[in-house]
Amino acid sequence: MSTVTDFMNLNLSTIHDKFIAEYIWIGGSGLDIRSKARTLSGSLDDPQKLPKWNYDGSSTGQAHGHDTEVILYPQAIFKDPFRRGNNILVLCDAYNPTGDPIYTNKRFEAAKIFNHPDVVAELPWYGLEQEYTLMEKDTKWPLGWPRGGFPKPQGPYYCGVGAEKVFGRDIVDAHYKACLYAGINIGGVNAEVMPGQWEFQIGPSVGITAADELWVARYILERVTEIAGVVVSFDPKPVPGDWNGAGGHTNYSTKSMREDGGYEAIQKAIEKLGLRHEDHIAGYGEGNERRLTGNHETADINTFSWGVAKRGVSIRVGRDTAEEGKGYFEDRRPGSNMDPYVVTSMIAETTILWKP
Ligand code: ADP
Ligand code: MN
Ligand code: MN
Ligand code: MN
Repeated sequence: MSTVTDFMNLNLSTIHDKFIAEYIWIGGSGLDIRSKARTLSGSLDDPQKLPKWNYDGSSTGQAHGHDTEVILYPQAIFKDPFRRGNNILVLCDAYNPTGDPIYTNKRFEAAKIFNHPDVVAELPWYGLEQEYTLMEKDTKWPLGWPRGGFPKPQGPYYCGVGAEKVFGRDIVDAHYKACLYAGINIGGVNAEVMPGQWEFQIGPSVGITAADELWVARYILERVTEIAGVVVSFDPKPVPGDWNGAGGHTNYSTKSMREDGGYEAIQKAIEKLGLRHEDHIAGYGEGNERRLTGNHETADINTFSWGVAKRGVSIRVGRDTAEEGKGYFEDRRPGSNMDPYVVTSMIAETTILWKP
């Protein structure tokens, strides 16, 4: 007798040249990810050669009225770790039939900034730390926590080991390997300070690639947790009280910062970020005020600050960078539910293009 898994593992590429492309896009909430599949044949590696597609925007909260068709433009291709073989994931952004980006398409504006010659010349690198919380599906309470109750206070959980300290490691590892298989530049994973909370890192990746990779890594995480029957939360403060929130720390450097004497470029960039603190906070995620309290390794949302090797600040410069006089810095303000297109492009815009 064959099992369902046997059929899922059928290898199409030995039979014919058809493959399955899972088109992925961002839905109306700005955080929900949608996808649907189609059969294709031919070129596999160039998104420009893949066909555009469409979906019903009225079903994703992205269109009203009589014309609800939204057009998907393929932007990046990854290998599909779920179907494997020649099958692919296709990250798309969304346009009206007239060719204008729809209002939730944050990639379009980001791409404009990353295509600016001054930004291209600075080769901006991003290291994106994605923190998230695994929740039990029925109770929406963090994985491993006593039903309706609380675990022992924070302390033993960060990078912990053992059945009383870490919950969901199989999911985290499945996601890690699936991302590597897909071709995502995922740098590592770790258990976080709050039990049931985890982190993975993207990068360093250049320009808009970092945000593309983070979105596909989020998609893969939704798929892996779907299989495991667990819910992933990107809420920046999933449990109020004496529990750490979840961030989307954004590590950043330009060519000038990475070269000898780069510390001066780093200082200038931090100064400019300080002048635009409110604008950045506005783009760094919904509900982030519940997280940026000044406690739990955060800086207060209303005050811009920076420091070397400090964690209660808006911007942290690493000890290595300060000692070597070049390197990168970490913007600790973005929440875990931030849109990486908005955050990465805004940092490039402020630090490279903006003239105060
Ligand atoms: P933390 O100590 O804040 O937990 P992590 O190790 O989780 O730091 O993340 C640091 C991130 O910074 C990684 O994704 C790494 O790839 C990235 N990174 C390293 N060097 C650079 C650089 N020069 N520019 C931008 N990002 C960098
Ligand atoms: Mn980290
Ligand atoms: Mn972390
Ligand atoms: Mn960090």
